[in-house]
Amino acid sequence: MPGFEIFDDAEKQQIQEVMDKGFTFRYNFDGMRNDVWKARELEAMICDSLKVKHAHLVSSGTTALSTALASAGIGAGDKVIVPPFTFVASVEAIVLAGAVPIFAEIDETLTLSPSGIEAAIKQYPDIKAVNFIHMCGGMGHMDEIKAICDKHNIILLEDACQATGGSYKGKYLGTIGQVGALSFDSVKTISCGEGGAILTNDETIYNNAHQYSDHGHDHIGLDRGAESHPIMGSNYRISEMNAAVGVAQWSKLDRILDTQRKNKKILKDALKEFKEVSFRTIPDEAGDNAGFLSIIMPTESRAVEVVKALGDAGVPAVFYWYANNWHYLKNWLHIQQMKGPAKLPIDLVTDKPDYTQIKTPISDEIMSRTFSMLINLSWTEQDIQFRINAFKKIFK
Ligand SMILES: *Cc1c(COP(=O)(O)O)cnc(C)c1O
Repeated sequence: MPGFEIFDDAEKQQIQEVMDKGFTFRYNFDGMRNDVWKARELEAMICDSLKVKHAHLVSSGTTALSTALASAGIGAGDKVIVPPFTFVASVEAIVLAGAVPIFAEIDETLTLSPSGIEAAIKQYPDIKAVNFIHMCGGMGHMDEIKAICDKHNIILLEDACQATGGSYKGKYLGTIGQVGALSFDSVKTISCGEGGAILTNDETIYNNAHQYSDHGHDHIGLDRGAESHPIMGSNYRISEMNAAVGVAQWSKLDRILDTQRKNKKILKDALKEFKEVSFRTIPDEAGDNAGFLSIIMPTESRAVEVVKALGDAGVPAVFYWYANNWHYLKNWLHIQQMKGPAKLPIDLVTDKPDYTQIKTPISDEIMSRTFSMLINLSWTEQDIQFRINAFKKIFK
C-alpha cells in the first residue's frame, strides 16, 4: 500500500519548486508565489482522476473526516453508524464532532453489512449518517448500502482512507455517498507525509468544507483580511510542501494500483489451492485497491496459529486486527470508556449506548478468523515466492 516506497526525484523537485518559486501557504500571497499553487493543482488532479466535482485538501485523513461530518451537517447529538473494525480515527472524529457513534456489524467484506446497518436503524430510528469505512482497500455491498441510506434519508459518508483509487461498478470509492474522505499519511496508498481530502459533488458540502477547514474564510477575493466568515471553523489546512509531495505521488497512482493488483494476484492465486484459505469478499474485484490481501481461516485458533507461524518464518507486515489495539473495538478501552482529556460533548447525551457493553458477535466471529498481509510496491518475484513458500510450509 505505501506510496513512500516509490519516492524519487519527482517528490523532491515538487518541494524544491515550492521553496524556490512558490509559498508555503495554500491561499493568497499571489504576488509572492509566481503562480505556484500545489494544493489547487493536486485538488484538480484528484477531481480529474476520481471523476468528482470537488476535492478539498486538508491536513490529514482524520481532519478530512471531521470536516466531512461538519460539512454534511452532522454535529451535536447526531447518531452515526460506524463499524467495530476500523481505524480509531473513524470513531474519534464522530465523538469530537459532538456526535454519537452507533456500532453496527460487518460481514465478510470486512466492512459494514447491509443487515448490520438495518439492525442499527431499527434500534435507533434517528440515525443521521453512516460512516462507511472501505477497510484494507476493498469495498462493501455499496448498492444495497446506498439504497438503505437513501430509503431512510441517512447521509452516507465514505472513509476511503485505505482505498484511494479503488472503485465499485465504475464509481470511485469516496464518491458514492454524499461525501468521502481520503488520507495521504505516511503509510497510505498516496503519501504526502500528512494530508487528506474531502470528496463531494455537493456544492453546499464543498463550500462548508473549504470554509470549515480554514476558520470559516469564504475564500473570495485577493485580500484574506477582508474576507467574510459565513461560519466558524478551525485550521485543518494542508501546507504547500505536503501538497507538492502529493502532486508527485498522485501522478504515480495508476502505477501504484497496477503494481498492487499484479502483486496481490500472484499471491492470491498461489493461495487458492489451500483448502483452509478463504478470502475476504470483494463485491467488485476489478475495483479493489489491492493494498492488502485479507485471508479468513476456518477457526480463530487456526488464524492465531498461522499468524504466529508466518511471524516465525520471518514474513513481515501480517496484521491480526482482532488483537490489534488500533483497529478493533474490543481492544479500545479509551473508547469504551469515552475518555478524553476533558469532559466530552457525548457526556451530555442521555440516549446513547453504554459503550462498555457493546456487543458485535458477528464481527467478532469474522475478525477473530481474519488476518491481512500488506501488499508492497517494492516486492521482487523472490519476495512474493518467499511468502508463498512460507504459506506452503504452514498449510502442507
Ligand atoms: C489512516 C486512516 C484514517 C486517518 O488518516 P490520517 O491521515 O492518519 O489522519 C482514517 N480512517 C482510516 C480507515 C484510516 O486508515
